[in-house]
Amino acid sequence: MANRREFIKISLYGAGILAAGAGSYKLVRALTKKEEKEIKQLGIDLKRTPTYCEVCFWKCAGWVYKTPDGKIWKIIGNDDDQHCNGRFCPRGTGGIGMYYDEDRLKTPLIRTEDRGKQVFREATWDEALDLIAGKIKEISSKYGPESLALFTHGSGSAYFTSLFKALGTDSIAEPSYAQCRGPRDEAFFATFGEEAYSPEITDIRDTKCLVLIGSHIGENMHNGQVQEMSDAIDKGASIITVDPRFSTAAGKSKFWLPIKPSTDIALLLAWMHEIIYNEYYDKKYVEKYCTGFEQLKAHVKDFTPEWAYGITTIKPELIRKTAKEMADASPAVLIHPGRHVTWYGDDTQRVRAIAILNALLGSWGKRGGFYRQARFSLASPEIPAYKQPARSWTDLFPGKFPVASSPVCNLLIDASIPENNPGHQIKSWFVNATNLPLTIPDQAKTIKAIQNLELLVAVDTMPMEITGWADVVLPECTYLERYDGLRASPHRRPALALRMPAAEPMYNTKPGYWIARELALKLGMGSYFPFEKQEELLDWQLKKAGTSLEEMKKSGVKNFDRESDDLYIAEGEEVSFPTDSGKIELYSAFLEQSGFDPLPKYVPHEEPPDGYYRLIYGRAPMHTFSRTSNNPNLTDLMEENSVWINPKVAKQWGIVNNQLIWLKNQDEIISTFPVKARVTERIRWDSVYMVHGFGHAQKQMKRCFGKGASDTQLISRVLEDPIMGGTGMRGNFVTFILEKSEKEVAS
Ligand code: SF4
Repeated sequence: MANRREFIKISLYGAGILAAGAGSYKLVRALTKKEEKEIKQLGIDLKRTPTYCEVCFWKCAGWVYKTPDGKIWKIIGNDDDQHCNGRFCPRGTGGIGMYYDEDRLKTPLIRTEDRGKQVFREATWDEALDLIAGKIKEISSKYGPESLALFTHGSGSAYFTSLFKALGTDSIAEPSYAQCRGPRDEAFFATFGEEAYSPEITDIRDTKCLVLIGSHIGENMHNGQVQEMSDAIDKGASIITVDPRFSTAAGKSKFWLPIKPSTDIALLLAWMHEIIYNEYYDKKYVEKYCTGFEQLKAHVKDFTPEWAYGITTIKPELIRKTAKEMADASPAVLIHPGRHVTWYGDDTQRVRAIAILNALLGSWGKRGGFYRQARFSLASPEIPAYKQPARSWTDLFPGKFPVASSPVCNLLIDASIPENNPGHQIKSWFVNATNLPLTIPDQAKTIKAIQNLELLVAVDTMPMEITGWADVVLPECTYLERYDGLRASPHRRPALALRMPAAEPMYNTKPGYWIARELALKLGMGSYFPFEKQEELLDWQLKKAGTSLEEMKKSGVKNFDRESDDLYIAEGEEVSFPTDSGKIELYSAFLEQSGFDPLPKYVPHEEPPDGYYRLIYGRAPMHTFSRTSNNPNLTDLMEENSVWINPKVAKQWGIVNNQLIWLKNQDEIISTFPVKARVTERIRWDSVYMVHGFGHAQKQMKRCFGKGASDTQLISRVLEDPIMGGTGMRGNFVTFILEKSEKEVAS
């Protein structure tokens, strides 16, 4: 075994080998042959197992290395993977911390006192699953299977979704829809008949102009995207960043537009005005592929840069210059669709404006704009047909959110509270890998809904806030200790990636597939899981795909050729878009028929009261929201958040850098924990900014308990998007409390 000095040297092979141009984006690349040889000489076993990363949804494929005594040592990128190009981000390399975190859930737990008191006893798997199966049967026969809801996220979603569909419910929701990307999906569907996918089909590497509207590439460390942005900058692309905060991306930008929060639609309309009335738009493209141009032209007639200036505080000259910059790059221009887009409740319309702008500039389907995705279609084993639910989630509150194409978490929560008079009541939650109290805004409502349930089961790797409320807690092993479904995400080329266990599950934890199947067996639904072991299913699927599990264990990733050379729309190509009209719909007849504006409109939003500031939040590159805030490797990089305050405001309040303060919102909610002030010119005077995912109140997570403040706690006002149910979370205002009495702190 290597001595300490040698170990540091070895560590540097991982953490110190940094690549990617354009300054601050540091990514860890694969070992070279020479480095591998040197490490071997130091006695490190280089036997490696393939995985794809679970630290964020980018799912980069990598290799897990172990020490000779079988301990997981390091994760690095797989050179053949399109998602990461052989480089992991620092957060991904820190994924090992999930495995080593001593605060992990270790064995099944059954609640013994009142819900929320967090008094549990340890149980065997058999006992815990018997209890759940019995309660599910009881609730299902009493209220119907539609009263069972599943909240799910990540790789385990497929298994638990299959189980709940088999039970006969479609109340199966992912917070990634109504709390994150849903407005983007619906806006792009309404415009192009297709979504922006994950990873996004943004052709950043070849773009000449990238426009980021509240999208913080670099801070949201989505690996391939960060690398492509870096490459594009090196090749001379210009970046336009629209953000009330001087973000990392703003620091790389040719233009930074420090927009007044909540006014983005006004800027987008003014850009459309400039592009249409100066005839900058791609005429051939618009004529051939789009419909509704004349209505759009009439609609934006009065939305001049001068009009927008009064709303956005962005000078007309800057609006004109940036419109021209985009037009000069057309069609290799990309107004990024964003990811977490649930801001002000008019989010589908804002993203519609982004989609329309892309269409005007001819970037959809074009090099440097959006490419056409390809994905590998995996074979599915034969299973019985799922039961048709007698009542659907759309019957919970008929007519609400008519355009939502996926179940909406907040609707399921509302339907768990009897006073809301839902069409049918949700009586049980099965929560897989999502920490609802920190994921869904309006915590008080979530807790109220929980108190009305007859069963709450939480499956997780960590003792999150949600597990504290559960009746039964099921500890899942980490992604480094389990197989999962093959990754077949869309990209430029179809590809598959394998995740397999690098080590045996620690403690008494189990993989999600095993948990779902065992529960299915106890519920008499075993036929929906025909393969006893997940690896048997993977091997069956891989053989159908012309490879095998053995082969994939050696390569980790398999790339396939596209069926035809159609990454971009060819010059003059006839294209039928999957919309009702077969064209790109600038004017959306679909939205109009659904009772909404066919073209986006700017509607003013409420301003902060005197002495209050708009609360905006975002990501840090070293964390994935609340999921990683206890990770020992990542807390080393960032252990708490701070609140950004403009110096002018800080001076008025007498706040200095690093001072601990509390935040109080418009509904008198005060942050449980204090947060450090960061006094910086990088934020507008009318707003404050925090990184999401801190301020945990769960004592079992010793490293992150009480560190920083929770933005979710302060987001009690939710601006619902009437189109698809997205929970707009930027309509909250906070003020500062500089001191609290000892009693207040203790409470
Ligand atoms: S971007 Fe980073 S954290 Fe996300 S999957 Fe890739 S390596 Fe993991």
